[in-house]
Amino acid sequence: LAKQAGDSRVRFFAHALQEAASARLGLRNDLRRALQTPRDAAQQQLLLHYQPQVDAQGQLLGVEALVRWQHPARGLIPPGAFIAEAEASGLIVPLGNWVLEEAASCLERWQRDPALQPWASTLSMAVNVSPRQFREPDFIARIEDVLARTGIDALSLELELTESVVADDLEATLEKMELLRRHGVRFALDDFGTGYSSLAYLKRLPIDTLKIDRSFVMDIDAPDQSGPGKRPAVLIDAIVAMAHQLDLRVLAEGVETETQLTRLAHAGCDIFQGYYFSRPLPEAALCAWAQEIQAK
Ligand code: C2E
Ligand code: MG
Ligand code: MG
Ligand code: MG
Repeated sequence: LAKQAGDSRVRFFAHALQEAASARLGLRNDLRRALQTPRDAAQQQLLLHYQPQVDAQGQLLGVEALVRWQHPARGLIPPGAFIAEAEASGLIVPLGNWVLEEAASCLERWQRDPALQPWASTLSMAVNVSPRQFREPDFIARIEDVLARTGIDALSLELELTESVVADDLEATLEKMELLRRHGVRFALDDFGTGYSSLAYLKRLPIDTLKIDRSFVMDIDAPDQSGPGKRPAVLIDAIVAMAHQLDLRVLAEGVETETQLTRLAHAGCDIFQGYYFSRPLPEAALCAWAQEIQAK
């Protein structure tokens, strides 16, 4: 009897594994097809949402482009549900290129529209770049090409890298970043504090902005700062002090409450991003949001 139960459990797990594998394969094939659809086609399933980044006075400084997938059967899929699969399959490279292209042409549209000034003319556009995409031999050429074709100012393009890119191969990463920086492109270090944060490399990297991960921000207004896994508020003070010492701007991610904002501003954070200001928005909604902020 025990053996029988064991067998059926094995069959159950084998079946579950098979299901998971075929779901991943389905997702991969669907994503491949979505990427083959022309960017401007009506049936294009990929899209970008834009989340505002503001200063302590609430002035709009930039937006972060965040990819979404409008799947015909599954509905709107957040990046957390397909970026890992895209990384594993290599589709992250064409996906990243798609995002770069779309974000740049969106910024170009905004900059050219007289109705969207002056906020659009000084706006920065932050684009997430995956490690694999950054390591592509033609990554620099792609950026040059996008800048040339759209005519957007390189200074308005901010590439978000994570610590894992850097940890991989510091020398190669540094060289690539320096080359891009010569074009005027800026860099932000995303999700800071979750990886192998090393002060040694932080000092050497040509980054402009350090994005403090949401997990630090989440805990800043928690009454108990001593529990396991908690990141005490004093860490934020330390990160800000260190970043400013290195001439970096500090952006706090995932600001949801006024209390968090007040504490982060008090700690010296320069830029804020989070639901407290706005969720990531479709293009038209972002423009409406920015117009309204500007009118205040
Ligand atoms: P990220 O780059 O750290 O982006 C911030 C994430 O936090 C976004 O999730 C955003 O919607 C969410 N967020 C912003 N403010 C708040 C807040 O106040 N509260 C909470 N709970 N969440 C907030 P999203 O859009 O689901 O993206 C998740 C991750 O997927 C991103 O994290 C980024 O690592 C990745 N990703 C998104 N778009 C791209 C892309 O185009 N390329 C690559 N390689 N990765 C991307
Ligand atoms: Mg990001
Ligand atoms: Mg982040
Ligand atoms: Mg994050």
